[in-house]
Amino acid sequence: MLTRLATDHRADFPGLVTPTGKPWHYLDTAATAQKPQAVIDAVTAALGKDYATVHRGVYSRSAEMTLAYEAARRRVAAFIGGAEDEVVFTRGATEAINLVAATWGEANVGAGDRILLSQLEHHSNIVPWQMLAQRKGAHIDVCPLTDDGRIDLDAAAALLTPAHKLVALAHVSNVLGGVLDIARAAELAHGVGAKLLVDGCQAVARIGVDVAALDCDFYAFSAHKLYGPTGIGALWAKAEILADMPPYQGGGAMIDKVSFAGTTYAPAPQRFEAGTPAIVEAVGFAAACDYVDAIGLSAIHAHESALVAELRDALGAMNDVTLFGPADSAGIVSFLLDRVHPHDLGTILDEEDVAIRAGHHCAQPLMEHLGVPATARASFGLYSSQEDIAALVRGIERTRRIFG
Ligand code: PMP
Repeated sequence: MLTRLATDHRADFPGLVTPTGKPWHYLDTAATAQKPQAVIDAVTAALGKDYATVHRGVYSRSAEMTLAYEAARRRVAAFIGGAEDEVVFTRGATEAINLVAATWGEANVGAGDRILLSQLEHHSNIVPWQMLAQRKGAHIDVCPLTDDGRIDLDAAAALLTPAHKLVALAHVSNVLGGVLDIARAAELAHGVGAKLLVDGCQAVARIGVDVAALDCDFYAFSAHKLYGPTGIGALWAKAEILADMPPYQGGGAMIDKVSFAGTTYAPAPQRFEAGTPAIVEAVGFAAACDYVDAIGLSAIHAHESALVAELRDALGAMNDVTLFGPADSAGIVSFLLDRVHPHDLGTILDEEDVAIRAGHHCAQPLMEHLGVPATARASFGLYSSQEDIAALVRGIERTRRIFG
């Protein structure tokens, strides 16, 4: 029995209609989520009547905006169970991971050291580590997957050695939707003295995250997948790790004192936020956390899980459809229709006002493992409904007729 989530909240999202006012069956939330009016209003106010710079102004508007910006940091930290001085605002998850590679990685990974990734990582949790490994003469190991498409932590346990300095894994796969047991991954990583970085991009909007309970060392995510604005994300890191990390970009706001004789740096997290920050986006990020918390991630997770089960049942009943990923995927279903390239399917579905993602999903090593160049992917959000699934199924049936 599906929850009433979509019925109750769909109207909060002005983006969920077509230009002619019909319902838009948006099944690409894993790429980016639509925005609730509460976030749009918060961004509009921050860009309008409340707008000013932060951290510098002596006038009251700037002081208020500084309070709002730092309140946003507290809000985002609380959303994932962290402390405010443990959250660095970044451009998104990609920059958060690159920041760790460029600072912690530069200081802690050396020649002969190893980094463990998995076969299903998004390119943004592969390429920064490859670049670091190339600079340092370090090695990348790839953890294989189980038959149903989860990161195989038993295999990780067998691969890990004291030479591993870092384990970097996705909490939820953006292609297959499997949820990783982060507490166990942390135990394994820490068992050999490695740190654990979690790519939480798909998890934060789908399952409740408590970094303290998970005991990971770094957690990276983007606001835009959490119903917030683009252009901002967060790196959470344990305070003692952040305190020891060298600076990232140099510039204003990240310093303690600058002179040509030498510069000293601000403490974390300011040390990692050079330049005028994404003030407006931070306010929108906090509003998104408020919006999601008011609904509750357990309700959102239950809703998306029910939709996954319904879609997997519908697709599983079609003998020309291949389904990927575990049955208990968090809100994401990847599949292939025989004889139809996912791009063709996506184009025909678009004519039916159904939006899916078709392609390699920035996970080419996973595509190679699956033996396909691309998949079709339907992904849900809190506003997704059985009508969206019905429209997708109708569109697949029409595609099948077109392709004979
Ligand atoms: N990791 C995963 C699992 C993702 O799904 C994405 C976004 N597709 C990213 C990282 C990168 O996020 P962003 O593009 O917002 O930096």
